Amino acid sequence: LAGKTFKPEPSVIEVNGVKIGGKELVIMAGPCAVENHDQIMAAALAVKKSGAQFLRGGAFKPRTSPYAFQGLEEEGLKLLKEAKDATGLNIITEVTSEKAVEIADKYVDMFQVGARNVQNFQLLREIGRSKKPVLFKRGPATTVDEWLNAAEYIMSEGNYNVVLCERGIRTFETSTRNTLDISAVPVVKNLSHLPIIVDPSHAAGKSQYVLPLSKAAIAAGADGLIIEVHPNPKSALSDAAQQLTPEDFDYLCKDIAKIAEII
Ligand code: PEP
Ligand code: MN
Repeated sequence: LAGKTFKPEPSVIEVNGVKIGGKELVIMAGPCAVENHDQIMAAALAVKKSGAQFLRGGAFKPRTSPYAFQGLEEEGLKLLKEAKDATGLNIITEVTSEKAVEIADKYVDMFQVGARNVQNFQLLREIGRSKKPVLFKRGPATTVDEWLNAAEYIMSEGNYNVVLCERGIRTFETSTRNTLDISAVPVVKNLSHLPIIVDPSHAAGKSQYVLPLSKAAIAAGADGLIIEVHPNPKSALSDAAQQLTPEDFDYLCKDIAKIAEII
């Protein structure tokens, strides 16, 4: 179902009038995690002003350590909904379990499946039954073929609203958090009709690399970006090193618009 043999023409996934996979770049931005009311409101207003169409923010955080901040769960979803009502932004959040899908369904416009759950087939089937658009991240150690097969688990349950997201894979290189597999963009475009966006933030792990990777992603043909932006990155409860300030994000939006024009 994800393959071009099934559907040769590119799919456009529409979320409340925003087209993903169409001519316009789609920008999703916001903090790694929802932390409190003021933080998410400030982030929402800033990313809206710079031209993002989606606000991202984790409420269920799949952290490497069980002792790290795990997210505000439903309280965080309520804050995201408040930010949506104030700005009109679409909301995207990660769901980490079938229970989280059930809770988040009421509050958000798009689900995100994180890299760690790329082959959590029970979760994928549950999302497939929900019909809500889903951003489906590649795992740090999944091949493109495994990733597209995993997408079949969502689509075979009836949910065709799948957007793929390359977020870096694990290699021997340690100067970045992951290695952005830029070739995944043209490879996916060759094999699949599904839109693909890039997450330069989790690929880089360091804020100074987010801009060049974003430009590379757009030049390679990505349909959009998902970028971590925090009103005060230094104080962030997760992924502090990679989140952009609202000022840097604004600069990035202007810069990538120039690339989008010439390709
Ligand atoms: C995230 O988007 O905050 C996240 C945890 O990303 P990934 O699943 O790509 O690590
Ligand atoms: Mn993060």
